[in-house]
Amino acid sequence: MIKFDPPSVTYKKPVSDTWLKRFLAAVASVVGGNVTVHSGDRDFVPQGGSRTSQHLLGRAADLKVSGHTPKQVFDCLLAAAEGLPAPMLARYQILYHGTHTCTEAEHVHVGRYAFLDKRSKRAGFDFWIEGTTPETTKKYKCVKSVDKGEGFASDLTI
Ligand SMILES: [Zn+2]
Repeated sequence: MIKFDPPSVTYKKPVSDTWLKRFLAAVASVVGGNVTVHSGDRDFVPQGGSRTSQHLLGRAADLKVSGHTPKQVFDCLLAAAEGLPAPMLARYQILYHGTHTCTEAEHVHVGRYAFLDKRSKRAGFDFWIEGTTPETTKKYKCVKSVDKGEGFASDLTI
């Protein structure tokens, strides 16, 4: 018998950002399973972590989806990128830490840039990878960007 998990999000760790929480619900729907958030808000920098991490600002989550490997989750979101919902002015980073990651283990990280971050001139998504091969440990690469909406008015741009 095939087991099907309805889309849902389980928070093992709290995530403060409500925009990111909405996006996590969309991830559950798009990938089709239960999203488990195993790291969210942080007040510390873990092994291999960034000192400017969005986790420290309450705007990031590390997740798993039932029945899918982290690579499958990332590839699914990448394939669905144009159809993913991005509310006006919200821009998200989706980052696959591969099997050779400098972080603790292979996982998918999602974060939301601050509204006035220079990377948030337009709503949308940036897909990044790190540690997919021994040569790319600690080397971050953007593999796709999708812009949504009209972007900021110029007087809001920093
Ligand atoms: Zn993370």
